[in-house]
Amino acid sequence: MTQFFQSLAEADNALTEYELSSSCKFILQYRTKNARTVFDVHSFDGTTIKFEDKHGEVPICYDGIPWILIGTEVRECHNGPNRRENNGLMKTMNDHCYTEKKKRRIQVSKKMGCTARVTLRMIIRFPDYKLEDDSKRKRRAVIEKLKSLSDLDRLKKEYLVVMKIRGDHHNHIVGDNAGYGLPLDKRLCQKIKEIVTEENVTNTKEVKARIEHISKSLMATKPSNRRMHPTNQDIRNHVYAALRKNSYSAVNMSLTEVSLSRHCICL
Ligand SMILES: [Zn+2]
Repeated sequence: MTQFFQSLAEADNALTEYELSSSCKFILQYRTKNARTVFDVHSFDGTTIKFEDKHGEVPICYDGIPWILIGTEVRECHNGPNRRENNGLMKTMNDHCYTEKKKRRIQVSKKMGCTARVTLRMIIRFPDYKLEDDSKRKRRAVIEKLKSLSDLDRLKKEYLVVMKIRGDHHNHIVGDNAGYGLPLDKRLCQKIKEIVTEENVTNTKEVKARIEHISKSLMATKPSNRRMHPTNQDIRNHVYAALRKNSYSAVNMSLTEVSLSRHCICL
């Protein structure tokens, strides 16, 4: 299923809707540099102007309009391939120790080798240079003309996101019953962080009530969907994580203040 969007926000919303309706979650696997930061082009240096791309997971068909690729992003099913080097063991280094310590992970990986994935390609098209008749010579002429332009700011451009969802899930259940294994929605994670750090609310019941209210306004999903309806333990874990992060920030800030005050004394 290949879809086209005029902005990243539209593509993200469509993907979130797909995830919620199918009770799955796609995790970022890799993203090229500038894939989500560049929305315009001011120079053709180091870029390739194309009319089509038949290769890769998301082929871009010829329609006469030249374009350049800005970036690529790949997301895999959360039950996808296990890419950890040692399944079951997690290596950690002690800052003050010369020997390598191994920490055993109590929970086994939930990865199941599912091959479902999402690929996004961000491109910028130049519709004013559309070819009516296709030939290698005409393509080359258009590319040369575009590259000879001195002021690209006045050039008409179209930003486009091409998204392909390969939803062929393997080795795990999908649909309403699959929602129990989903991680918490990012928007809800952020909300818990705000409730804890800005409003000092840490009571599980209170946080959960407010999260449930927000999740209902985002999208109606079954209560078994853990992405939108976290368990009490999920809430406790996120509250604890927010508190821990907050305390680290406070310690770092006080250390910086001590360091600054020492520096002032030295001066
Ligand atoms: Zn899957």
